[in-house]
Amino acid sequence: MTALEFIKKIFFVEILMGLSVTVKHLFSPPVTRQYPLEKREPVPGARGLHALVRDSETGNARCVGCGLCAAMCPSQCIHIYTSEGEDHEKIVDRYEVEVLRCVYCHLCVEACPYAALALTDHFAYSGYTREEFYYTKEMLLENWDKYMSGNKGMDYIKKFWRPRSGDFEKKVIKQPEEKIEK
Ligand code: SF4
Ligand code: SF4
Repeated sequence: MTALEFIKKIFFVEILMGLSVTVKHLFSPPVTRQYPLEKREPVPGARGLHALVRDSETGNARCVGCGLCAAMCPSQCIHIYTSEGEDHEKIVDRYEVEVLRCVYCHLCVEACPYAALALTDHFAYSGYTREEFYYTKEMLLENWDKYMSGNKGMDYIKKFWRPRSGDFEKKVIKQPEEKIEK
């Protein structure tokens, strides 16, 4: 043991240095938030509750039932049921998400060629039964109206939707005057 180490030991220098950190923080303001009375502002792009994008012109879901999102989903929690319409077009009869099985990986959103699906920033949701977290097409469209209304939805798509291929861009991003960065 060196002389310096010996002096440090008999005068409890390390302990006093540690205590000084504690004493310093005794007079700093607390950083704890009293949730749910105090809530943080939602973070754009936070991966919360799912929503189906409602087309602003038709008022219907944008989803065409291609099934890519369900194929990409590692939790296999997306269930899509389609039928054939009069002109042989695909009709999405049911689009359902088992939210409790979701791992919020965002792959479904990134895989969708039509920007028809979103993860909203609403993350503080709760319920008493598993059934409450089985979201149907209507519930998912309601989520869009509730949590992504106004420009918020389009801002989300521009920022967090990935495909953006030339084929789909004009159809999906309905503000052609605003050029999308590639
Ligand atoms: S976020 Fe991931 S786990 Fe959740 S539904 Fe989408 S693909 Fe599935
Ligand atoms: S990938 Fe998009 S368009 Fe295809 S089924 Fe999923 S949400 Fe609908």
